[in-house]
Amino acid sequence: MTDLRITTPVPTVGSNVQTIDDGLHGAAGLTASNVACWFGTKKVLEGVSLDMAPGQVTALIGPSGCGKSTFLRTLNRMHELVPGATLGGEILINGVDIYRGAIPVTDVRRRIGMVFQKPNPFPAMTVAENVVSGLKLSGLKVTKSEREDLIESCLTKAGLWNEVKNRLGDPGRALSGGQQQRLCIARSLAVSPQVLLMDEPCSALDPTSTRRIEQTISEISESVTIVIVTHNMQQAQRVSDRCAFFLAAENEPGRIIEEGPTKDIFTNPRDSRTEDYVNGRFG
Ligand code: ADP
Ligand code: MG
Repeated sequence: MTDLRITTPVPTVGSNVQTIDDGLHGAAGLTASNVACWFGTKKVLEGVSLDMAPGQVTALIGPSGCGKSTFLRTLNRMHELVPGATLGGEILINGVDIYRGAIPVTDVRRRIGMVFQKPNPFPAMTVAENVVSGLKLSGLKVTKSEREDLIESCLTKAGLWNEVKNRLGDPGRALSGGQQQRLCIARSLAVSPQVLLMDEPCSALDPTSTRRIEQTISEISESVTIVIVTHNMQQAQRVSDRCAFFLAAENEPGRIIEEGPTKDIFTNPRDSRTEDYVNGRFG
């Protein structure tokens, strides 16, 4: 393969300028083609191609260190924030290249939101302030009544409204871990993302909170494409439509070994390494 290393965004000119004005809202498709990643001179991912269809949940599975989080960060241009990090290949949202197309990087990150392993609400902000905290950064203006509607609708979508509707003025840190994670989901939804990336969003949560988040994922997945990293094989089967199995051989970059409908990955995998992994024989 040819490794095209992108260290700065490539400007677009003239007739190459692409817009997706016709696709600004609603779940968007993401396509990764031949993605490779480096930290300095160390190549940690190679030849990763994956279609993440609009409105579907794609689970990324595989042992620690095989590059799942790194791949996830390339999908909304967070990989490039790490000093010395570079990448090759292409990532398209609804057919438009997020690195070389006309979409400004702040807009890429608004359209493609991220929820992390550890819930990270702003601790001093109230519950309500947390929900709308992304609006300013994204340059989105709302009236006071729109703001209130947005707070209610996002907390409802995130499955948290009933628990916090009388505590909107409490600090974010006053919520339980599972509630904080749903608050982070509500905060992500407030800027109308088309894709939501979730990196092990339940690994710090108890089973009840985990199931609540999984329910939330099912509820929002029609209107936002979801890509979730999980080490929990039951969770992957419960929430995802498709699965991609990543693996890195010793001292080799990570690759996708196999991807397909979740049912096939778990019941009829093509590769023996996939079968061993999903049955808990390693990793
Ligand atoms: P996973 O999420 O599958 O556990 P990661 O994407 O976190 O894997 O890591 C993939 C590889 O990249 C690992 O070898 C890891 O050590 C390396 N890596 C991750 N982040 C950095 C970083 N900021 N600097 C250098 N190497 C990193
Ligand atoms: Mg990870």
